[in-house]
Amino acid sequence: MDNSAVEEKIEELVIIGSGPAGLTAGIYASRADLHPLLIAGAQYGGQLMLTTEVENFPGFNEGVMGPQLIQNMLDQAKKFGTKFEYKNVTKVELGVISQEEIGKPSLHKVYMGDEEIITKSVIIASGARPRKIDVPGENEFWGKGVSSCATCDGAFYRGKTVAVVGGGDSAMEEANFLTKFASKVYLVHRRNEFRASKIMQDRAAANPKVEFILDTVIKEIKGELTVNGLVLTNVVENTDSEIAVDGLFLAIGYIPETELFKEYIDVSVNGYARPASGKRTMSKIEGVFIAGDVEDDHYRQAVTAAADGCKAALDAEKWLAEHYSH
Ligand code: NAP
Repeated sequence: MDNSAVEEKIEELVIIGSGPAGLTAGIYASRADLHPLLIAGAQYGGQLMLTTEVENFPGFNEGVMGPQLIQNMLDQAKKFGTKFEYKNVTKVELGVISQEEIGKPSLHKVYMGDEEIITKSVIIASGARPRKIDVPGENEFWGKGVSSCATCDGAFYRGKTVAVVGGGDSAMEEANFLTKFASKVYLVHRRNEFRASKIMQDRAAANPKVEFILDTVIKEIKGELTVNGLVLTNVVENTDSEIAVDGLFLAIGYIPETELFKEYIDVSVNGYARPASGKRTMSKIEGVFIAGDVEDDHYRQAVTAAADGCKAALDAEKWLAEHYSH
C-alpha cells in the first residue's frame, strides 16, 4: 500500500459529541492547531438544546438560552478551524490499526455509516440521555405531557397538577421547582425510602404543594391529545389506582451513551465511561480520551462538562505531541 496516501487521510483528533464537552474540546484542540474533526450527530447540541434559560453558566450574567449557548460554542470552535460533520457515529474500532513497526501507538477507526475515518486520537464526549420508565403511553405522550426536563417545560403547567417519578435528588429538585408553577405535585417513588440527600427530601416534604406517593410504580400514562391521568400500582399491596394529572416528569436518572464504546474502554456498573487509573482523562486505550456526561454520574452541569472537554483536549494535545512530534 502507498503509505503517503494513507497518511493523508489520517485525522489528528476526532471528537464525538457536540454538547458543551465536545464543543469545548473542539475550541481548545483547534486553537492548538490540531484541526479536529467533530462529529456532532444528526441532532447536534445535546441536552442544552432542550433547555430554555441557563442562568448559571459563568459569564452570562443575564442568563442565556440553552440553544444559543450551544450556537456560541459551535461558532467559537468553527472560528479556530474545527471541522464539523452533522452525522451519527454508528461504530468505532479503537486501537485496531497497529503501527508497532514504526514505533507509534495504534490508530482508531470511527464510522458514520459506510464512511470510515482513521484517526490518531479520539475524544468521547457522547453525553447521556434521560432514562425512561417504559410503560404504555410514555412514547405516545412524549412532549405532550411527558417530559424529562422540568426546567424546560415546567412553565406550561401553571395552576395545573403534575407528577414527578423518582426518588433521587433530581426528583426532589424537580418536584420543588415545579411548585413554582403547578398547584399540586405528586412525587411517585417505587420504594418507601429515598435515595435523595436528606436536605433535598426535607425540602420537598415541607412543601405543602408536594405529596409523596410511595411504594408505587406507574403502570400506564393515560390521555387523549395530552396526558390526563396515571394508572398507579402499589407494589406492596398489589393494588391499582388512578390519579388525574396534566403532566408527568421523569427524574429517574440518565443512561450514558457508552453503547458503542464499552467493548473497548472501561465502564462503571451504571454504564459510565471510566478513564484508566492514573491517566487523567485517557481511557485504557492509548489516545482515546473521555469528557463530559458520558463519564460524569454526579455533577452533570454544562460548566463541568465544558471543563471536562477542556481537560480532554489538553491531554490529547500533550499525548499527540509526545507520540507524533518527532
Ligand atoms: P439517582 O440518584 O440515580 O436516582 C434515580 C431514582 O430513580 C432512584 O430513586 C431510583 O429508585 C429511581 N428509578 C430508577 N429507575 C427507575 C424506574 N425504572 N422506575 C422508577 N423509578 C426508577 O438519579 P438522580 O436523582 O438523577 O441523581 C443523579 C446524581 O446527580 C446524584 O448523584 C445526585 O445527588 C446528583 N444530583 C444532585 C442535585 C443537587 O444536589 N442539587 C440535583 C440533582 C441531581 P431507587 O432509589 O429505588 O433505585
